[in-house]
Amino acid sequence: MPAQTNLFLCLTDNYGVLLHDPQSGATASIDAPEAAAVEAALKKTGWRLSDILVTHHHADHTQGIGELKAHHKCRVVAPRNEAARIAHVDETAGEGDTVRVGSLQAHVIDTPGHTAGHISYFFPADKLAFVGDTLFSIGCGRVIEGNAEMMWNSLLKLRDLPDDTQFFCGHEYTAANIRFAKTIEPNNKALAARGEEVARLVAAKTPTIPATIGAEKAENPFLRADNAEVAKLVGLSGSPAWKVFAEIRERKNRF
Ligand SMILES: [Zn+2]
Repeated sequence: MPAQTNLFLCLTDNYGVLLHDPQSGATASIDAPEAAAVEAALKKTGWRLSDILVTHHHADHTQGIGELKAHHKCRVVAPRNEAARIAHVDETAGEGDTVRVGSLQAHVIDTPGHTAGHISYFFPADKLAFVGDTLFSIGCGRVIEGNAEMMWNSLLKLRDLPDDTQFFCGHEYTAANIRFAKTIEPNNKALAARGEEVARLVAAKTPTIPATIGAEKAENPFLRADNAEVAKLVGLSGSPAWKVFAEIRERKNRF
């Protein structure tokens, strides 16, 4: 039976998402930005919380864990390389590990850069990926604990997922990301079309998430740093892709 998801906004611009296995009844919260919002989503869906899968240690992804664990006695899985910075962890996971939610199975992918130990969860049978603050739709996370080369290599791993993979990220930043992306690639037709679609979704107060990896490859400048045309547009023809990525990230930081 296919996995089910329930996406909801919380805090200011964070996304919470529940992943449900209809076969076993297991339900995971991907990160725990806000306990009350997760509880409301559980009530609405009628699902019972069995697991919390943490992508990284930032407070806006972890501050609900304690309250949810106290209430639901759920298992908390956290990134091995930063588990010491997260409270209430039961199990740790890193590159190549399999994490189960009932009968659903995730491959764990190390995606450092935003934080040093950030991980993403990919469920191949359902082609669902939960990427925290590494990849955003038409954007990517700030490089806070790692460096640009590290972040670029993490993004490449996510870009290598099947094109029809739907990914869920930690924030609703898509409209602002598109405004920035157009300054890098003003003539990208796929990006322009996505901009129109996102404007319609925002007007209808509908999430722009999940997005697909295939569409991001054509539209997201941060996944296009190894495209010769993009390198030329930022004045770095012939430079290594990670340097082009670093330049685009720097420009976004100042945008
Ligand atoms: Zn973060």
